[in-house]
Amino acid sequence: MTTPTEPTPQDPTTRARLETVRDEALALAAQLQRDMVAVSEARDASNVDDEHDPEGSTIAFERSQLEAIRRSTLDRAAEAANALDRLFGGQYGFCLNCGRPIAAARLEARPMAALCLDCAS
Ligand SMILES: [Zn+2]
Repeated sequence: MTTPTEPTPQDPTTRARLETVRDEALALAAQLQRDMVAVSEARDASNVDDEHDPEGSTIAFERSQLEAIRRSTLDRAAEAANALDRLFGGQYGFCLNCGRPIAAARLEARPMAALCLDCAS
């Protein structure tokens, strides 16, 4: 087969891709959670005063960075999980806003896409 086919609810490749995105995002979020705990423990061990020690504000910044990455990672996992729900429900590949099919090229680049290009822009 040389021509790309429209994704279907039965498409095992799409399902596998989405499950991989979801699982990797969840694993990364768990790793980031452990990193945040490690940062906290390092601060506790060094007895740094967050408010007065310059090192303390660096650690707070590092923690807030990790938390921001963790949240966007969890968002990605949720997007993939929602796409899997649509796949199992037979709504996958159709725009949630206008109901038209989402272009195959867009789904190829972004398998979690819930909106067509027109509605997303
Ligand atoms: Zn649309």
